[in-house]
Amino acid sequence: MPTKYTSTRNHIISASPKEAMLKGLASNNGLFVLNELGENKINLKEIMQKDYLDMGQEILQILLPDFSKKEIHESLHNAYYDTFSSPKIAPVQSVNDFHILELFHGPTAAFKDFGLQLLPELMERAITLNQKIMILTATSGDTGTAALNGFKNIDKFGISVFYPENGVSPIQKQQMLTTNGINTNVASIAGNFDDAQKNVKEIFNNQSLLNTLSDNVSLSSANSINIGRLIPQVVYYFNAYKELLEKEAIKLGDKINFTVPTGNFGDALAGYYAKLLGLPINKIIIACNQNNVLTDFFNEGIYDRNRDFFKTVAPSMDIQISSNFERLLYYESGKDDQYIKSLMADLEKNGKYQVKPELLKNIKSKFASYYASDKEIKTAINQVFKEEHYLMDPHTAAGYLAMKQYQNESDDNCQNVLLSTANPYKFVETVSDAILGSHENDPIKTTQKLAKYTQIEVPISLQNLFNKEVKVESVINPNDMTQFVQQKVKEVFSDDNN
Ligand SMILES: *Cc1c(COP(=O)(O)O)cnc(C)c1O
Repeated sequence: MPTKYTSTRNHIISASPKEAMLKGLASNNGLFVLNELGENKINLKEIMQKDYLDMGQEILQILLPDFSKKEIHESLHNAYYDTFSSPKIAPVQSVNDFHILELFHGPTAAFKDFGLQLLPELMERAITLNQKIMILTATSGDTGTAALNGFKNIDKFGISVFYPENGVSPIQKQQMLTTNGINTNVASIAGNFDDAQKNVKEIFNNQSLLNTLSDNVSLSSANSINIGRLIPQVVYYFNAYKELLEKEAIKLGDKINFTVPTGNFGDALAGYYAKLLGLPINKIIIACNQNNVLTDFFNEGIYDRNRDFFKTVAPSMDIQISSNFERLLYYESGKDDQYIKSLMADLEKNGKYQVKPELLKNIKSKFASYYASDKEIKTAINQVFKEEHYLMDPHTAAGYLAMKQYQNESDDNCQNVLLSTANPYKFVETVSDAILGSHENDPIKTTQKLAKYTQIEVPISLQNLFNKEVKVESVINPNDMTQFVQQKVKEVFSDDNN
């Protein structure tokens, strides 16, 4: 039987990997999952002989079996060969008693490039002859830039990005407003990330909107709800393990811990997928900022978003509905689609759900979670720079604090890998506040001062950012997103542009 992805909320709804990727979200609002995941383990010894792209080839062939070997090979090559500034793509730096997996060497300086360099390549190879797709993306900052960059000027695709008006860093905004393609659109919405994400999900299921689109135009997502965005991230967990073997920090088969700064739970879920595929992972530590819905869940078994929303110094984690957590609940509940459907209905209706004790126990055997305040984050950036001469971005610093807390509380002897999700210069104001005690009004000046003091290089993509032509920012009401999408579909796919 060919491999099918099914909806977390109903097994009957299914799609081939290519279809699941083109659709983004299942038709009942559920997320596509692969039921066989974990039934066959990857041969660890063999995959550890491979380089990054060949590891990717093996993992993608397992998870996306309807793509040909050639399609996967070409996609990986185009996505990662020569586009990352580090030849290792995802290098690991050892600092003191832990390791940092640097995921910010791609074109937009955050880990989103791993998914979004590859997703357009895969989608281009999955799309049918007459099909056209408008990609809709809600972003807390980094997905937007990486998605615009990935889909820019790609034939048969248009992209519309929605970011929270006051919820992204000045650099992130500049990146989005300077990525100009004939098929790219950006709007800021008066609201937060959760508002943007909720509306995007609603648009996917807005039948009357879908009816107005011409026959061959459909909508899809570049958020981590899309399997094509998520699966590429599995590869760097395997590659990090290999780096630790090469450093002789571990022996083949030793278990290690990963700490993951978390928002929508995509990155952490990719780690969980790696574990299901046979990577020896002991614990995945979920790091949150003051928006600590997940940390509370781990303590109480209740996911409750009825709480204040905080704008923090780690804005890409300012999220109260972690979409991909649904996929974890699905696997850890024994793939109980009807149970997941009821939990998600509770979340929709009451803003919260409580899980069965055995489900919480299962999850806690594989994960731990901690959160950090803004003040703690800044102190950690300062301390690690002083002690180790390593400059962390605020998201990575939240991860660092969670990792340290875990190390203090647990008695395992596993090596610890901290995922560094963004380059520190993307959040230069906060990093400058932490290191120098203040920042300038102008991001260029702040960057120059910080670089001079720390002697840590600014990535080229950020150096040129402020010389580029900037689009006028359009601010829209969340309720007008549907109309915006309708309009952009017309503009992008009008005959003049084809
Ligand atoms: C997106 C993002 C996160 C959160 O990742 P998720 O996959 O949404 O959990 C953390 N840090 C940075 C810098 C990000 O851009």
